[in-house]
Amino acid sequence: MAVLVTGGAGYIGSHTVAELLERGEEVVIVDSLQQGHREAVLGGKLYVGDLRDKAFLGKVFEENDIDAVIHFAASSLVGESMKDPGKYYHNNVYGTLCLLEVMNEHQVKRIVFSSTAATYGEPEQVPILETDRTLPTNAYGETKLAMENMMKWFDTAHGIQYISLRYFNAAGAHEGGRIGEDHDPETHLIPIILQVALGKRAHISVFGDDYATPDGTCIRDYIHVTDLADAHIRAVGKLREGGASRVYNLGNGKGFSVNEVIEIARRVTGHPIPAVIEPRRAGDPASLVASSERARTELGWAPQRDSLERIIASAWAWHQARPDGYND
Ligand code: NAD
Repeated sequence: MAVLVTGGAGYIGSHTVAELLERGEEVVIVDSLQQGHREAVLGGKLYVGDLRDKAFLGKVFEENDIDAVIHFAASSLVGESMKDPGKYYHNNVYGTLCLLEVMNEHQVKRIVFSSTAATYGEPEQVPILETDRTLPTNAYGETKLAMENMMKWFDTAHGIQYISLRYFNAAGAHEGGRIGEDHDPETHLIPIILQVALGKRAHISVFGDDYATPDGTCIRDYIHVTDLADAHIRAVGKLREGGASRVYNLGNGKGFSVNEVIEIARRVTGHPIPAVIEPRRAGDPASLVASSERARTELGWAPQRDSLERIIASAWAWHQARPDGYND
């Protein structure tokens, strides 16, 4: 039996493929390489193609004995989604529709979905619970919620069980040093801070230092990418045991402020990393942290690499070794 990882050449997908291989799973990967990197795929059988090409996808299911899918393939830039929502509906929602239809044609009944805490929008409370209201404030989050809802109806009609994992910021790199984060454009805080330490940027911008948080800067939730990979694999295990469809948050429970992240990056890199305070950005909540109590009790998941030093040190090792990212 093989696990199909869509988007397996991307950042979180490639770390999940590495972890699946370490655990002795047979792995099949589908990635268009529109964002991902061939070099990031450490093993398994890679098919280069687009999810929306159903003939291509059908062939992947015909040629392999797939019993579960982990679905990462999506467009995921919030800013871009507000300028070009059509791209997000087409790639994310229509892409997922094609995937579910082909799974159904091939009687594959398990899917673990990489969702996002952006499905909640402005939080009702912190830490956020799975039962909280979902009211996305951007098109990206809205398409992820639509994908979750689609899975619910495919479960009702066709018995395809799904586990949807909602999280905020993936961070860090594989501690073996061979794979890491290489997004273009890069929009995530930790790699941007490390670009300053690498001499690729003059400073880091801090958007607002007058929020109602202990040091005035926004608090966000960061999870090591290998801990995320572990959660996705545990979710596959849960479905293989007959677990029912369910939504889980993945969070570190406490969050870190932007100033804390910068300070720890200074310690890890030994670089002064100058910071410049700029005005708040519209729509940035003071604190975004997810509760992962449900994942702890039902999946037995807890982040193992939850110290920010460790997360940043693993990212720094990767960025120092590969300052320009992958070769492709
Ligand atoms: P990524 O861009 O590095 O990986 C996505 C991969 O999917 C890329 O390799 C891309 O080429 C591929 N892909 C996209 N559309 C495709 C299609 N139609 N057909 C085939 N392949 C396609 O992104 P990432 O940071 O690894 O994120 C992976 C998933 O996790 C996304 O779905 C994202 O919404 C979700 N997520 C990410 C974060 C984060 O902090 N990075 C947080 C929450 C949720």
